[in-house]
Amino acid sequence: MTEQQHQSQTQAKKSPDNIQYTDVIIVGAGPIGLSMARMLSGGELKVHIVEGQPEDTITNPAFDGREIAITHRTKEMMLNLDQWRHIEPENVHLLKRAEVYDGNSPFALGFDKPDSVRGKPIETLGYLLANHRIRKAAYDALKNEIANPTYLTTHFGKRVNAVNTNDEIAEVSLEDGTIIRGKLVLAADSRVSFMRKALGISADMHDFGRTVLVFGTTHTQSNQQTAHEGFYYGKTLAVLPLGEYKSSMVITVDNSQVARIKAMNKEELACEMNNWLNGRLGEITVTSDIHSYPLLGVHADKFYGNRCALIGDAAVGMHPVTAHGYNLGMESVAILGKLLIQAAQKGEDIANPRLLARYHVTHSTKTKAMYHGTNAIVKLYTDERPPARFVRRAGLRLSNSFAPVKRLITAQLTG
Ligand SMILES: Cc1cc2nc3c(=O)[nH]c(=O)nc-3n(C[C@H](O)[C@H](O)[C@H](O)COP(=O)(O)OP(=O)(O)OC[C@H]3O[C@@H](n4cnc5c(N)ncnc54)[C@H](O)[C@@H]3O)c2cc1C
Repeated sequence: MTEQQHQSQTQAKKSPDNIQYTDVIIVGAGPIGLSMARMLSGGELKVHIVEGQPEDTITNPAFDGREIAITHRTKEMMLNLDQWRHIEPENVHLLKRAEVYDGNSPFALGFDKPDSVRGKPIETLGYLLANHRIRKAAYDALKNEIANPTYLTTHFGKRVNAVNTNDEIAEVSLEDGTIIRGKLVLAADSRVSFMRKALGISADMHDFGRTVLVFGTTHTQSNQQTAHEGFYYGKTLAVLPLGEYKSSMVITVDNSQVARIKAMNKEELACEMNNWLNGRLGEITVTSDIHSYPLLGVHADKFYGNRCALIGDAAVGMHPVTAHGYNLGMESVAILGKLLIQAAQKGEDIANPRLLARYHVTHSTKTKAMYHGTNAIVKLYTDERPPARFVRRAGLRLSNSFAPVKRLITAQLTG
């Protein structure tokens, strides 16, 4: 940095012009931060959103391997937030059925599409959408507002590096010296959340010691639009149908296996998948690079503090096996967003501790059950000792023949 640049930066830091005022500050423009920004439109609230990544990675996010299974409730949210129309119909994939396998047993616990969800007829168990398309749709729904702002100010390419809240204000500092001062700050900065830590909110964290590897494939035999979750011994494989002859492969392995799998060329990888699936999909071709995600589960002990709240993965970062992280994130937007809009309309303090506690209680009732339930399933289905193998198989058969359990799981899948 030149002397001149240094001087101008120091002056900028001291200048009161560097303080910007607003009502709500959202940190993180992932799908959840952007959805909250859209949710707060048309209300009385001014919003600033801050994102560490440069603008073009938010306006045109790159394929990241993730195919997200979304529930009917999330689809309704995306419709309400004007996001759904930004996803081309050919990129929305229907999930007709889901099957869970244990070890090499041919027995499958199956879930079929129910006729209706909350009284409405449905065409599919759930939808599969690529994560980068969800992110882009969340941005596109705000594009006009960003071009001609009425309530929203964006700060792209600037990380938040400090946060301070007290009874009167919530304030964040950006790495360029800008200070944003508001009534409430929302952390939407992912599961390894700088904000959560800086705000002093404790969290349950579980490092699974495993990594998810995802990549795209095509194949010569139909996947029957059925999601396949195989808990094999030493690894799991989920096959997510993207149309009949195209699937996303989601492998979960011990961290020590990652280098071996990543070193395979596409032909070797296709051959390995073929072996795992006993040739069920015919000839497999790997069509994308491998994307990897180390598995860390996080559940914040509280979803709020003084003039602050956590949403999305910053509140709950789920193990992806039950496909709930984004769905729960959208629920955090629905619950908290509604409370904030109602409070603003009544002229009440949007950071009232009673309001934030209500958000915490409503949201955490479901997230705690999901988070601990998912972790328990993962623990059982990665335990390869003989008694656990017995319980794993018995669990699948029992769930299959016990209608209330099946209905409960199906309800969680459809939302
Ligand atoms: C392999 C895989 C499969 C998955 N499958 C499913 C599924 O089927 N169904 C489902 O519901 N969910 C699924 N999920 C979970 C889903 O992807 C996440 O829940 C969702 O992306 C979280 O969105 P978010 O906006 O909270 O966080 P993110 O998308 O992580 O966004 C956080 C943003 O905050 C920004 N940021 C971070 N720190 C700062 C800072 N200090 N200052 C400014 N900006 C900052 C980041 O740059 C980022 O843009 C899956 C996840 C994985 C890894």
